[in-house]
Amino acid sequence: MNLIFLGAPGAGKGTQAEIVCEKLGIPALSTGNMLREAVKNATPTGLAAKEYMDRGDLVPDDIVIGILKDRIAKPDAKNGFILDGFPRTVAQAEALDKMGVSIDKVIEIYVPDDVICGRLSGRRVCESCGASYHVDHKPTKSEGVCDSCGGKVVQRVDDKPETVLSRLATYHEKTAPLKDYYQAKGKLKTVVGQDSIADTAKLTLEAIEG
Ligand code: AMP
Repeated sequence: MNLIFLGAPGAGKGTQAEIVCEKLGIPALSTGNMLREAVKNATPTGLAAKEYMDRGDLVPDDIVIGILKDRIAKPDAKNGFILDGFPRTVAQAEALDKMGVSIDKVIEIYVPDDVICGRLSGRRVCESCGASYHVDHKPTKSEGVCDSCGGKVVQRVDDKPETVLSRLATYHEKTAPLKDYYQAKGKLKTVVGQDSIADTAKLTLEAIEG
């Protein structure tokens, strides 16, 4: 099963992907996590991507398509995967088609912009494994320490309020058109993101199985 999770930054794609991938036994592949790892390790890709990410802009298509292509070629992705944060432009979706990757379903997680802004200000992530937390809705058991790997949990530079607005504008301009792209192929299902992570997970699994 090859799935795409689509939605604005902070809609809950990563959190839902973590839940669903465990249930389905397929990996969740987040291009955001791959890029942050590359930045941390100061690889050539990371150095090229950093300035775009810090501004809240999209990283150029050729860079992101390259890392995604390498990632889905790995053995753990051969029985399926969830793409979290890719594609983000029509050109990326077309590149996926050209790679011969068939997508079974595209799950849009819809959350209104005003709710997104509140969520992102409280979001925290693990620097080491990328696990996602929220100061109110999903706090770590121990302050600043990742429940999964013990890594340091921090606020992302691009979750600061001034960057969030520009990321939302980018989403509406460049990524939201993908809804029409996949709707036209009969693959789009929309889930309305709920306050509770478990409630959204239930709706997400129903959308995948339905
Ligand atoms: P995310 O963790 O998905 O919110 O991604 C964080 C940042 O990484 C984004 O704001 C972009 O700068 C970059 N990024 C992640 N995925 C993509 C993508 N598919 N295309 C372009 N830029 C991306």
